[in-house]
Amino acid sequence: MVSPSFESLRQAAARVQDLADAMSVLSWDQETYMPPGAIAARAAQLGTLSGMHHRMLAEELMPLAQQLLAQVDSLPAQVQLNVRQLHRQLTKTLKLPEALVTAMATATAEAQHAWEQARAANDFAQFAPHLQRILDLKHEEAECYGYQSERYDALLDSYEPGMTATQLDGTFANLQDQLVPLIQELAQRPQVDDSFLYQPIAQDRQWAYGLGLLEQLGWDTRHGRQDISAHPFSIGIHPSDVRITTLVKETDLMAMVYSTLHEFGHALYERGLDAEHRGLPQGEACSLSIHESQSRIWENNVGRSLPYVQHQYGAIAALYPDGLRGRTALDVFRALNKVAPTPVRIYADEVTYHLHVILRYRLERQLLDGTLAVADLPQAWNDTLHELLGIWPANDAEGVLQDVHWSIGALGYFPTYSLGSLYAAQFWAQACQDLPTLEAQLAAGQFADFRGWLHRHIHSQGRLYDSEALCQRITGQGLQVSYFMDYIRAKMAVVYA
Ligand SMILES: [Zn+2]
Repeated sequence: MVSPSFESLRQAAARVQDLADAMSVLSWDQETYMPPGAIAARAAQLGTLSGMHHRMLAEELMPLAQQLLAQVDSLPAQVQLNVRQLHRQLTKTLKLPEALVTAMATATAEAQHAWEQARAANDFAQFAPHLQRILDLKHEEAECYGYQSERYDALLDSYEPGMTATQLDGTFANLQDQLVPLIQELAQRPQVDDSFLYQPIAQDRQWAYGLGLLEQLGWDTRHGRQDISAHPFSIGIHPSDVRITTLVKETDLMAMVYSTLHEFGHALYERGLDAEHRGLPQGEACSLSIHESQSRIWENNVGRSLPYVQHQYGAIAALYPDGLRGRTALDVFRALNKVAPTPVRIYADEVTYHLHVILRYRLERQLLDGTLAVADLPQAWNDTLHELLGIWPANDAEGVLQDVHWSIGALGYFPTYSLGSLYAAQFWAQACQDLPTLEAQLAAGQFADFRGWLHRHIHSQGRLYDSEALCQRITGQGLQVSYFMDYIRAKMAVVYA
């Protein structure tokens, strides 16, 4: 028997979520169809709504959460989880004074603009004072949240509840120790030819192919839409309304294909959330790393697998005006999984990708604890890239200025990308065990069982458990680097046979 006050909490959470959903529509519009001259007005609209949202959390939701927390032991188990998690989230969010929230919003709006110009001009000095301002505000934010051992933990926890830098150190050291020798070893092997993939294909044909891919995977156009944007993203406005974007480049079909698969995975997660519990932990995504595991499992574990490539082979060959020049499905699979260090994270392969994350993790942690000055950041960036990947960026635009994250105040975010790949590998291993014919299904273009598996174990679980506990429930263990290493070694054995 659910207590009546939980019902009132559920209704209040849905009302607050209505406002958040409306903000999501405005953000989606800003990234897709809004005319550029409206940016100042849009920033003001979002600022006003953010303030209202913050106040509704404080005045409507928190009192109910406190009331229920006081009697939590008498509530059903699932309700207990909802109440405890919600109270923890609200307590953290409401530690920030509204003045700091506003100051951060203004500073990041300006910094993002400055970052775009600095990157276009390849001039870090234009961005440096803005980054300094953001760091100062992030210091303040971390102090408001509080932390046990270091400031970084307070920020990391916003993206990855429960995770600490000390835990990450162990995970990343383990990864780095295995990946660096693997990359060196692969560099010694005969190299993979992927040049045949980069032939021009008309953009409308690519677009139609991308929509067809989504349909095969189980995309429901009554509840989702796809558009074009420079930086592909997905946004869940409501479980009944999920949206993704992709990019179409004439000479790079695979950039479109894999960004579509990636965003599909994010959108499927949002689509699978519990609509009856919107705004409560039960109806929210678990964490950024689990979100990223859902995009990467479709992009890499499914999309870059040999069975999937075999299934797509005929359709791909028909798209290229010249065909695939005698290349087999195995050749395409190899080309799609080629390992080659690049200075730019978003172009990185599955193996070198983690080292890009480790670089950013190291530097942002030093920036926060004050052992690295903003002025010394470009040199530190280049030196670390060289240390980890043996290459130098041509300039700051493809070095320290390549990512938007720090300009929007997202410090502590990058690690979730690597964690997402690691969770994806561990979930994939479990799914292959639970669904013994999974690979044959992929080769036949059948995805319903796998979608069902993800929904049962991950999407429907919301945020009732943190990432580590969810992983434990699904796989019987917390996060283990070994699943990713086994997966990638097995794949590379075929790619570089
Ligand atoms: Zn993603």
